[in-house]
Amino acid sequence: MAQTTLRTKAIVLQEVVYKDSDKILTLLSDTLGKISVRCRGVRALKSRRFASSQQYVYSDMLLSVKNGQYALEEAEPIESFFSLRERFEAIALANYFAEILLSVTVEGEHDESLLSLFLNSLYLLAEKPDVPYEKIKAVFEVRLSTLLGFMPNLDACEDCGRRDSLCWFDIAGGSVICERCAGAGGEIMGERILVPLDEGVLPLLRYLTLAEDKRIFSFRCDGRLLSELVRFSEKYLLYHLGRGFDTLTFYHSVYG
Ligand SMILES: [Zn+2]
Repeated sequence: MAQTTLRTKAIVLQEVVYKDSDKILTLLSDTLGKISVRCRGVRALKSRRFASSQQYVYSDMLLSVKNGQYALEEAEPIESFFSLRERFEAIALANYFAEILLSVTVEGEHDESLLSLFLNSLYLLAEKPDVPYEKIKAVFEVRLSTLLGFMPNLDACEDCGRRDSLCWFDIAGGSVICERCAGAGGEIMGERILVPLDEGVLPLLRYLTLAEDKRIFSFRCDGRLLSELVRFSEKYLLYHLGRGFDTLTFYHSVYG
């Protein structure tokens, strides 16, 4: 089959050394989704593609395609998120985000919103030390849940339709339950996994499920509200993905 070329913008999720001087990159691309790309002779520092073949560098790339295999021909870095490497907690979170994306994306299926969420999160981790890490993590988790189709129903009580006194969030069902329907409450009620919900967090959750990609981090919230969000964002995502992540275990072992 003839070789063709194409241009795309992509970020390196993972790099693996291959045959001494080559690398196999796993990229998240704006037009191709997750793809594997072979990079020849890229480990030499003088290689023009050296910078773009490193993890978390976002580049404009020229790829060749032959027999369904991609190879990196040329690349120009757009954003290297260099400061990530200077903050251990930031890089630990970046590794967690990347491990999730490697796990939930399917080769060849593209979703620009996933790429946008990852780029925006890395930008804040690298360039905005005043934004709390726990905010970046929680927003990433809630938004990713939504993009993957686990969007919770936040409008009204799942059982009776009431729109007030929504005091419980059902992690398993992705819904809210009112005070009356939950009765005495408790952690587990039938198939449900209930966590207490501060009603103040509902508008924030609605925002995170509906906001435009580029506005997803553009909200203010106080520490109390943020700690409410943090209490179930991770639990919710992991429950619906049905698995844990080594990078997350590491993150908690170091940063609590
Ligand atoms: Zn109810």
